[in-house]
Amino acid sequence: MSVFTKIITGEIPSYKVAENDDFIAFLDINPNAKGHTLVVPKKEVDKVFDLSKEEYNALMSFSYEVAKAIEKAVPCLRVGMSVIGLEVPHVHVHLIPLNEMADIQFSKKVKLSNEEFNSLAASIAKNF
Ligand code: AMP
Repeated sequence: MSVFTKIITGEIPSYKVAENDDFIAFLDINPNAKGHTLVVPKKEVDKVFDLSKEEYNALMSFSYEVAKAIEKAVPCLRVGMSVIGLEVPHVHVHLIPLNEMADIQFSKKVKLSNEEFNSLAASIAKNF
């Protein structure tokens, strides 16, 4: 069972920003930038292109809605999107508020307090 399935079943906590029957979105715990969010299908599939075309399109559509909420809640030049999956073998879309090129490189990380995570999650959720 992946760490993201454990979040979906409630076994471990997350800073949730949005959810429907098929997808969940929560803040990345080791963010590149403030508001870095992961969008995850509840069905545990390893690689993004192993999703059916319908599941892939539904994931992108849900990610679009989450990105719109991030744009409203988090000051940034734009929201970037990336799919990697080398660390967690459960499909997830990274949505990252960008102010500079380094924000989309997975080497620069920001440290946030529990209060900052909670307040970011609440303001993105409010705009979803
Ligand atoms: P990757 O699989 O390379 O796309 O990276 C996995 C991402 O998941 C990383 O950015 C991690 O910081 C993030 N991550 C891992 N565990 C958790 C967790 N429990 N809650 C939120 N994000 C996580």
